[in-house]
Formats: sequence, C-alpha cells, structure tokens
Amino acid sequence: MEHSTSLYKTPAHLYAHLSSMAFPILTARLSESTSLSNYTKHLAFEVEGIPRFGFVPGQWLSLTHTKPDGEEITRAYSIASPPDGNRFALCLNRVQDGFMSNYLCDLAPGAEISGQGPFGNFILRPPLRDTIFVATGTGIAPYRSMLHWLLADPARHQNKQFWLLFGSREEKDIYYHDEFTALAAAHKNFDYLPTLSRGGPNWKGLRGYVQEHVPSIVGDRLDMHAYICGLDKMVRANRDLLKNLGWDRKSILYEKYD
Ligand SMILES: Cc1cc2nc3c(=O)[nH]c(=O)nc-3n(C[C@H](O)[C@H](O)[C@H](O)COP(=O)(O)OP(=O)(O)OC[C@H]3O[C@@H](n4cnc5c(N)ncnc54)[C@H](O)[C@@H]3O)c2cc1C
Repeated sequence: MEHSTSLYKTPAHLYAHLSSMAFPILTARLSESTSLSNYTKHLAFEVEGIPRFGFVPGQWLSLTHTKPDGEEITRAYSIASPPDGNRFALCLNRVQDGFMSNYLCDLAPGAEISGQGPFGNFILRPPLRDTIFVATGTGIAPYRSMLHWLLADPARHQNKQFWLLFGSREEKDIYYHDEFTALAAAHKNFDYLPTLSRGGPNWKGLRGYVQEHVPSIVGDRLDMHAYICGLDKMVRANRDLLKNLGWDRKSILYEKYD
C-alpha cells in the first residue's frame, strides 16, 4: 500500500513548498520616484495586499522582471527606508548597459514590481557597539534604513556613537545629504562625514576615498563594529585596512553589490 502521510512526493517538492511559504512573492506599487542625481533614483513603494511589510534594517529584496524576449532577470536591492507600514524605498543607480537598474529607474508612479524577500544578514549585531558605517554610492541604502530606525528611539541607539562615512565623487553625487545633515544636527551621537574624491573648490568637507578616513575615526579601538557596503573593491580595501589595524573579522560586517 502506498504510504501517503505527505502531499509531497520528493524532497524537491517539499523544499519548493517551504521556500515559497518562507518567502512569498511580493507585489509592490511605485508611489513616488525622485531623482537623487542624474543617474540615481529614490523609489518609494507600497506592498500590495498587506498592512505591514516586515523586515530588519539592512536587508534586501530580490526583484524579478521578465524581459520582452522572455528572459527572466532577478537582481538584489537593499531596502533604503526603515520599517513603516506596508512601505519601503530603494536607492538605485543606473548601471551602464544594465537591464534591471535602468528598467527600475524608468518606472513611472503606479507601476507594479514583483520579487521576494526580505533576505540578508547585513543587519545590526547585538549587543550594539559604537559603530562606523562606510559606504560609497548606493551602498548608502541600508544605512538610511538602519540609522533612521536606530536614532528614532533612545532605547535602540543607547547613546552609542555612530559615524557615517559616505564616499562620492562630486557634491552632486552625495545622496540624502540634507537628510543626514539634519539627523546629525539632531543627534549628538551621530557624525555624518561625506567625503569627495573630486570635490570642487568650495567643498569644505572631507576629501579623498573613504578608506583614507577610517583610521582617524577608529584610532586604536578594537571594540567597535564596522559595516561596509558598496562595490567589491571598496569593501575589500576597508576590510583589509581594519584587519591590518588588528580588528577581529567578526566585528567587520559587509555587503558587496558586485
Ligand atoms: C545584496 C545586494 C544589494 C544590492 N543593493 C543595491 C542597491 O540598493 N542599489 C543599487 O543600485 N544596486 C544594488 N545592488 C546591485 C544590483 O543588484 C544590480 O547588480 C545592479 O542594479 C545592476 O543590475 P543590472 O541588471 O542593471 O546590470 P547587470 O547587467 O547585472 O550588470 C552590468 C555590469 O555592471 C556591473 N555592476 C553591477 N552592479 C553595479 C553597480 N552598483 N555599480 C557599477 N557596476 C555594477 C556588473 O558587474 C556588470 O558587469 C545590490 C546587489 C546586491 C548583491
């Protein structure tokens, strides 16, 4: 007699079912598209059909789109907003000749996207420590989520000290500048440090690459956390630097975009 305690005939069926339960397909509608620079957008979405979209600041979504020729494209995007009802935002760069980044940047409000998530382990590690957040470009996205979430409540930030070291090329490439400036003005324990590799003559802030400023922020401390987010080359430069300063690799968290 056939044994039929399970609906599933093979482990593959079971796995497919479990993964679709754990990460249901989400559909979201674009509510607002704002230019952050000539090639960067802040896209605000509302998830359809649920009152609350749960995620941990720092996590990312896997978005899928089928091209006109039938090819299915899937790409990861960090959530750039703190948890807020059924809303989330993305911070997106147009990548030259890339499909998904340009497709998303061209969407008009009202358009629907689909994907899965949230995913990822690039999240704040307890117990909270003084922390340096290092980013270039759209690597700022997860920190916009983390820092808004942290600084909204003293029970979350516990008066720990936070430094956001954000590298861009020129003034026009500093995303969310006014927002982080205001956040730093409102919180003594948050230092916002944009640094420009090609800043104009009137730029009064830091100059050079992010890794050139990490040593003066961390000094000889080994009791902090470092989060690093962006393209592989920058992530590697900062990880190597911190390891050479004697940091434990467990204190260095990173997310690579390429
Ligand atoms: C965990 C994770 C989170 C991510 N979060 C974001 C995010 O918040 N915002 C965002 O804009 N991107 C993010 N990315 C990158 C994103 O997933 C895509 O790789 C990017 O949008 C390019 O996709 P595409 O289809 O347009 O181009 P593709 O056809 O995939 O890529 C074209 C070429 O560009 C290179 N490339 C890929 N990403 C970049 C980049 N960011 N800058 C320069 N060159 C690149 C690729 O190596 C490839 O050679 C994230 C990636 C990961 C893994």
